[in-house]
Amino acid sequence: MKIAVFSTKPHDRRGLEAANAAGNHELYFHEARLRPHSSRLAENRDAVCVFVNDELSEESIADLAGYGVRFIALRCAGFNNVDLTAAAKYGLQVVRVPAYSPYSVAEHAVALILTLNRRVHKAYNRVREGNFELRGLEGFDLHGKTVGVVGTGNIGKVFCRIMNGFGCRVLAFDPFPNPDCEALGVEYVALEELLGQSDIVSLHCPLSPQTHHLINANSLEQMKQGAMLVNTSRGGLVDTPALIGALKSGRIGGLALDVYEEEADLFFEDLSGEIIDDDLLMRLTTFPNVLITSHQAFFTHEALREIAETTLRNLTDLENGRSCPNQVVAV
Ligand code: NAD
Repeated sequence: MKIAVFSTKPHDRRGLEAANAAGNHELYFHEARLRPHSSRLAENRDAVCVFVNDELSEESIADLAGYGVRFIALRCAGFNNVDLTAAAKYGLQVVRVPAYSPYSVAEHAVALILTLNRRVHKAYNRVREGNFELRGLEGFDLHGKTVGVVGTGNIGKVFCRIMNGFGCRVLAFDPFPNPDCEALGVEYVALEELLGQSDIVSLHCPLSPQTHHLINANSLEQMKQGAMLVNTSRGGLVDTPALIGALKSGRIGGLALDVYEEEADLFFEDLSGEIIDDDLLMRLTTFPNVLITSHQAFFTHEALREIAETTLRNLTDLENGRSCPNQVVAV
């Protein structure tokens, strides 16, 4: 199969070439993001292979169909960037990698919590400059704290296990409670109760029309004063202006983000020499209690290998007319 790979970074190329060592597919790598004006790069290809910030809108999908593309392979779990109804309308099949390494994302969420709480990022810089003072570095014990987990699927479950290991009380909200979490002692409660009781709230649900801005001015008001919010899921789950308000009022005592609603034109690029025209993101970076990483939670050796192998296996299934367990369809 001829596959146009969009948003290619060196690690994507390495991983996909290794997974394609037998040469079953022809891979055409493009650094460009897939958007309506770049879809022509997929002319005469059977499939496009895309990532989190490629735009699979109806316009892009109609173009792709016109160029002969039949398959869309996401090399990620979330599929909020694909118009599934349009894909069905134009006869394109969509596959994803639902569970490449839940540990990668759950562990990154924990890394953010520990770093932000114990100010490791600040201590690192201080010590390098010969400043050995402790002032401002005080944190809190995780042991005994209440952690609220929104979404207990693959990643949320691993995150619950880790927080349980720290000796935290774990509350969860999910329309479909996970028996593995219940067995662990995780208590399922209504979202409002979770927000009101948790010292740390971590988001692990997908972005959908139902979850868009799940964290907004109203839900932030329901949070415990000074609680920490962690988002390693999708930026659109939170309303950024409302977050800034909650940081200014002290309602949110710590904020850790690996994703940002307007990340598409920023994340994964070196813009250190540029003027960044995003006043909300820039405002967030000025708070001393905000820690931001640029969508790197998935970025482990194990996850990259699994993503590449599953992506090509998904496409091989579709090419051979086999049913693929990782196909996603509009509901
Ligand atoms: P999953 O499908 O296994 O689990 C999602 C869970 O969320 C399910 O249990 C579902 O019932 C629940 N859910 C759905 N709607 C909900 C709602 N309104 N409130 C609460 N829970 C709800 O998915 P996963 O593999 O655990 O991944 C979760 C999300 O993490 C993905 O959708 C993706 O957006 C994000 N993700 C981020 C990265 C990263 O690098 N930052 C990497 C992978 C995945």
